[in-house]
Amino acid sequence: MSSRKDLSEPTRLIHDHPASRPLERTVGPPIQRGSTVLMGKASDLYDHGQVTYGRGGLAAHRALADALAEMEGAHACQLYPSGLAAVTGALISVLKAGDEILVGDNVYGPTRRFCDQVLTRMGMTVRYFPPRESAESILAMAGDRLRAVLMESPGSLTFEFCDVPAICRLAAARGVLTLMDNTWGAGLLFKPLEHGVDISIQALTKYVCGHSDVFLGSACARDPTLAEQLEDAMWHFGWSVSPDDAYQGLRGLRTLPVRMERHGETALEVARWLEDQPQVHRVLHPALSRSPDHAIWRRDYTGACGLFGVVLQPAPARAVDALLDALSLFGLGFSWGGFESLATTCGPQLHQRHYPPHFNGPVLRLHVGLETQADLIADLQRGLAAFDAARG
Ligand SMILES: *Cc1c(COP(=O)(O)O)cnc(C)c1O
Repeated sequence: MSSRKDLSEPTRLIHDHPASRPLERTVGPPIQRGSTVLMGKASDLYDHGQVTYGRGGLAAHRALADALAEMEGAHACQLYPSGLAAVTGALISVLKAGDEILVGDNVYGPTRRFCDQVLTRMGMTVRYFPPRESAESILAMAGDRLRAVLMESPGSLTFEFCDVPAICRLAAARGVLTLMDNTWGAGLLFKPLEHGVDISIQALTKYVCGHSDVFLGSACARDPTLAEQLEDAMWHFGWSVSPDDAYQGLRGLRTLPVRMERHGETALEVARWLEDQPQVHRVLHPALSRSPDHAIWRRDYTGACGLFGVVLQPAPARAVDALLDALSLFGLGFSWGGFESLATTCGPQLHQRHYPPHFNGPVLRLHVGLETQADLIADLQRGLAAFDAARG
């Protein structure tokens, strides 16, 4: 190469490669921005044993994927640009035209929409199952083209659990794949792969990122062939995750266990307090001994997160709105897993169910953040007073 002083200024500006300088050792991985990956020599260009293109992820992505694979006990972890992309991406990696899939009736709304509108258009048959049914009756609902079972346990609006290990045992015996959306367990409170699930999915957007400001998803598999199928789909479809978002995911993961412990403790205290309020018909929280899912939760989970449901006494919509509008610490909004508390109504989403659940009263969903429990309870107390006033 000619010496630098023979080069024009525009050329010098282009060929000053900071990346060729050694990196300092920081606590986190470098945030490498790169589509092109420069290869050492011509024969490396088509060497697929090397990273030859940035779309599949660079340093920060690898650090996050490795850490998640470790937490989930996986062979490998595939990252996606959102939680929904992780669910749809994992499904599309393993399904083909003609396949039948069983889907828990309590799945996340956009997952249902994808199954109903996209999988069916691609020639698959989608059948919903009531999540609390026995594994035998769930598997008996499908024909011999059954290829996969998709579970979400608990459902993030109504909190029913599936008997995941039992469903996985029966499915495996039939050669049927199992996938689970484990966003509630966050890879921490429940380990799907240890309980027989083939593909463990989560919206990292929620607890792993933890600050309501990043979209990210993951799918983990123990079986190397399945892990390869997940990665292949990423190359086929062209999904890509920004290195900054991958970095934020890793940053969140560092504090996930301590945040989760706090979310879980405060939420359970708030749930117990709500159980005793006259305006509350039922609290949908698996750690409460009255919960129909308590036994499964105790058997399989090491804790609970900050998300649970509240069934109020029958009341007109205006009373429920008055309750929500009187809250000042609980923000009104979707998503969850961040440091701040949130509340939302669930009603409009429950009608989409194949087997609509009956709650005898309006259902709220609360996400308990990292605020102090007494402050949150005082906020809810104001909300319940407004509910009473508007109920008349
Ligand atoms: C939020 C959520 C998703 C989707 O995650 P996004 O990152 O918002 O796309 C998937 N599953 C469950 C259970 C969720 O709560």
